[in-house]
Amino acid sequence: MKQDIKYHGLKNQGATCYLNSVLQVLFMTTEFREAVERCSKHSDDALDVQLHTLFESLKKKTSETTEVTRKLGIEKVIEQHDAGQYFEKILSLVSDEASKIFEGHLIHRTICCKCDSETEDDVPFWFLSLPLMDSSDKHYSVVDGIQEFLKDAEFDGDDQLYCENCDDKCDTTVKYELRHHPEVLMLLLKRFEYHYMSYTKDSRAVDVFYTINIPETYELYALVEHFGTLKGGHYKAKIKPQDEDRWYEFNDSSVTLLHNMSHRNKSEKSRSAHLLFYRKKNTGTQDKENKVEEGRRKLKDDDLGENDHLMKKRKTTSDSTLVHSPLPSVSLICFLPSCTINPPSG
Ligand SMILES: [Zn+2]
Repeated sequence: MKQDIKYHGLKNQGATCYLNSVLQVLFMTTEFREAVERCSKHSDDALDVQLHTLFESLKKKTSETTEVTRKLGIEKVIEQHDAGQYFEKILSLVSDEASKIFEGHLIHRTICCKCDSETEDDVPFWFLSLPLMDSSDKHYSVVDGIQEFLKDAEFDGDDQLYCENCDDKCDTTVKYELRHHPEVLMLLLKRFEYHYMSYTKDSRAVDVFYTINIPETYELYALVEHFGTLKGGHYKAKIKPQDEDRWYEFNDSSVTLLHNMSHRNKSEKSRSAHLLFYRKKNTGTQDKENKVEEGRRKLKDDDLGENDHLMKKRKTTSDSTLVHSPLPSVSLICFLPSCTINPPSG
């Protein structure tokens, strides 16, 4: 039944499913693949060279990732790592032209509550790391995660921030705004948290919307899923090619057609979704609509829910680095059987 599938898989070197799933998404991100192809010709040091070679091979057959793992400095291919961490590492090693496709900018506006002075920081990001929260009455969705991420944060008591104008620590409000919307928006659902010297996985169900408006319209085209536990987990990617209306599952060397995913559904409920890739929808009318909408509509909701004060202190000053590095490194042995054989479904 494989005759009409034109895509090819990636061989697992041991526990490199975390890398394979990310590489397949990058291969299927046309803008990225084309940028890597252009840049591989003139940036010898960048990872573009190895990625271009891999992508050319992947157009024809099931391929090996040895050159890429070597360039990434992965020595122990039997150790499992986090897919989000390696997505970030890959972007840090490719040309600017290729990484720019994922680059957005956040504005952090810091307001001193004593003197009202304001400072503004432009913080570039390659992905947004979204907290998973309890939601008692309704389903938790990626949109809730974005709202939570962009919510104002108050710094008071022991958390007061230094104000240059007052030359003192003061109560401070920090407002976050998505200023430049990237071509491809990657959302990382924070399923792995470090608690009491070890990592735990949060497998709660999340409503993954096929389309989100923030207020630019984005459409889901790929997701990387994590199944099982951190110690013996497995990663797979689900991807919808740009020129097709159907979804495929990329599971290391195997590629299969998915029949149960459709944009006709508004969302999918998932306990395994970890990285979500959304492509910005560019249409003339859409842009106009967005401009009008932008004034009216704020993603940040001033009517905060009752439990929201619990999350107020979530952002700390050093958290701006979380935008780029949301995860402590996860380096755990992946037990081969669960990595190469179908994992228990999440
Ligand atoms: Zn001040």
